[in-house]
Amino acid sequence: MTPHATLRIEKAAIEANTRTLVGSTQAEVMAVVKADGFGHGLAALSALEAGATRLGVTSIEEALPLRWMGVEAPILSWLNPLDADATAAIRNRIELAVPSIGHLGRYAAAASRCGGVARIHLHVDTGMARDGAAADEWRPLCDLAREYEARGLVEVVGIMSHLARADEPGHPLTVRQRLLFDAAVRTAVRRGLRPRVRHLAATAATLTDASTHFDLVRVGAGLYGIDPSGTTTLRGAMTLSSRVTTVREVRAATPVGYGSRYLTDRPTRLALVPLGYADGVPRGLSDGASAWVRGRRVPIAGAVSMDQLVIDVGELGVEAGEEVVLFGPGDDGEPTLHEWAGWAGTIEHELVTRIGSRVHVEEAA
Ligand SMILES: *Cc1c(COP(=O)(O)O)cnc(C)c1O
Repeated sequence: MTPHATLRIEKAAIEANTRTLVGSTQAEVMAVVKADGFGHGLAALSALEAGATRLGVTSIEEALPLRWMGVEAPILSWLNPLDADATAAIRNRIELAVPSIGHLGRYAAAASRCGGVARIHLHVDTGMARDGAAADEWRPLCDLAREYEARGLVEVVGIMSHLARADEPGHPLTVRQRLLFDAAVRTAVRRGLRPRVRHLAATAATLTDASTHFDLVRVGAGLYGIDPSGTTTLRGAMTLSSRVTTVREVRAATPVGYGSRYLTDRPTRLALVPLGYADGVPRGLSDGASAWVRGRRVPIAGAVSMDQLVIDVGELGVEAGEEVVLFGPGDDGEPTLHEWAGWAGTIEHELVTRIGSRVHVEEAA
């Protein structure tokens, strides 16, 4: 039985992209594998075979299974609720980012309870007003970290921050954030801390601004072929495909799908594809959105439904059972993720992380 839809993940693409990123910096490279490796599953770990030396994830829950499956590289988890299981993190050598005094207290208490040491990265906000300690909390946070370090409860491994506008190369906010980051590091050092791993850049800044690289860059998007700065050619690692269920012949001016939003402009043939928004295909698509069948691009006809969409295949002679590619790396002229993001009015990151669980995943070397 063939699956109704397949997501093919190409490890070689992730490895090639990793090598490009490693080659664009003197710093150590952390592979960001949060959100199930940006939807690429365990294939994302192949970045470790291509030069990345650390892993980064959001939560402790994402980090633990990586350790349990035998990953030895340092793993950093940077976004956790106050009552997260810090003890499990410490016991499994998961490093923790610290965005507040409250978090620091919890992590030190957990270390004390389990007789371990919490390896931490102090996280400072330098201009996103999102995660990380605010400017007025930074000094007390450094002082408290120093105190816990003296008591053997924590080890301050690093200091981190995150850039808001690195996808616009040369933006003045990036300069400002880099200077504020420098100042925050100096404050920490003056207060007795010795952070060895300073990190600020993600994919865009890794590719466009060496002054932001410090000791480590945290790259996610780039591993998977997404360049938010639009300056580099990376290779998409996903191909989403399906098979035609049925084909029907229709007259000109036939309305298609919910809301009759598409009217055929000629007598034509319509093919039904069993992929919908529950599988991650965006519902709102602009005109021009297309799929690829028999070596040609054909328009998506009408609204995408939960489980299905229709393509207008005209004279192509498409039959039930034939393969339809929604997006891929673009080798044969099929639409790319980049084009799909444009048709959907979003970014590639959103598309790769929302593929539904019904889609069969297949890994290619
Ligand atoms: C997701 C994330 C990254 C990776 O960003 P990319 O632009 O995908 O490379 C880096 N750092 C933090 C804090 C993140 O949340």
